[in-house]
Amino acid sequence: MASDPTRSPTPTPAWHPRTTMVRSGLERSPNMETAEALYLTSGFVYPDADAARRAFDGSDSRFVYSRFRNPTNAVFETRLAALEGAAICRATASGMAAVTAALLCQVKAGDRVVAARSLFVSCHWVLTELLPRFGVTVELVPGTDLAAWRTALSQPAVCVFLESPANPALEVLDIPAVCDLAHAAGARVVVDNAFATPVLQRPLALGADVVVHSATKYIDGQGRCLGGAILTNDAAYDEEGLLPFLRNTGPCISPFNAWVMAKGLETLDLRVRAQCDSALALARALQGAPGVRAVRYPGLESHPQHALAMAQMDGRGGAMVALDLAGGQPAAFRFLDGLGLIDISNNLGDAKSLACHPATTTHQRLSVEEQAAQGITPGLVRLSVGLEDARDLIADVTRALEGV
Ligand SMILES: *Cc1c(COP(=O)(O)O)cnc(C)c1O
Repeated sequence: MASDPTRSPTPTPAWHPRTTMVRSGLERSPNMETAEALYLTSGFVYPDADAARRAFDGSDSRFVYSRFRNPTNAVFETRLAALEGAAICRATASGMAAVTAALLCQVKAGDRVVAARSLFVSCHWVLTELLPRFGVTVELVPGTDLAAWRTALSQPAVCVFLESPANPALEVLDIPAVCDLAHAAGARVVVDNAFATPVLQRPLALGADVVVHSATKYIDGQGRCLGGAILTNDAAYDEEGLLPFLRNTGPCISPFNAWVMAKGLETLDLRVRAQCDSALALARALQGAPGVRAVRYPGLESHPQHALAMAQMDGRGGAMVALDLAGGQPAAFRFLDGLGLIDISNNLGDAKSLACHPATTTHQRLSVEEQAAQGITPGLVRLSVGLEDARDLIADVTRALEGV
């Protein structure tokens, strides 16, 4: 007997991630479209005044306004929640909207937050500039140093924030170990999972309480739209903190962008695995190449947290590669200018391979001391490995290195 054709088959726990990515969250309209419908609408109408009253007093669950909820946004949220193993997903306008909301919704003056030092630079700003304005104390620790986490978390804290692998020097943090220490200090752990994606790493299963995403990166995967998401299984965090914060401050995603992200999820697994394969091939080719002081890639045996990365990231190193050029900034600039295929861009997670010099672009705002503490040397080049043939990427970097 045919099931209700307006619904996607009910997701079952037996579905593998690739099936979930294509099938979950779909609710067809009476038009029976194949692809997910795009509900580009800000509001919704009611058949009569009492229906509107019932929608607002909560006796009817329905869409009332797209700042609160939207059917297209719900497809993206349901699909990403299934992948991350989360009961709750709230989509946002950008990754930074997600990070800011995930933190601000749970802190108040007098609270203490502990975070890893190596951070996406806007996350660093939110933690070190924004939160202290409201009387929140923030302490940064070297993320790979468990003794430093233990010391920082020997005092109570409300929240711990980290990303792994960390941007741009690609250190890998021990998520279960940090979660244990954080929970003993009474803190909720927020993990930025933008670099690993749920294909490689599911922080909630590793002990984290909240996951944040820049969907702009691998979830879109083709450099088109900004978007973000916050995921959790902590109903109290959502009901008391996150949901009222999002509904009343309005960092919601556009339904158009949510539609692009939902479609992006359909190919995420294939793309990320292919990009990881190319990244490993590229990292191997760069290791020991003339002019290259070090290659930092979690998939290489030479990476200081290689074993941890393999255990925590499904045996893969991710699709970001960092290389430290012996000739410092002049060598890094000559390398970037010598690339013919790979574009110079501060973005990442695109189908197109991209390269940047963090010290003079993304992380320019940091002092030289802070850059050094985060492993951002003058010769550091960050590569976001895309979907081109790995042989063409290796040829491009090899040619560029010859000009250094
Ligand atoms: C890009 C990025 C962000 C910010 O995301 P936007 O979508 O650009 O706002 C946050 N964290 C990490 C790790 C990122 O790479």
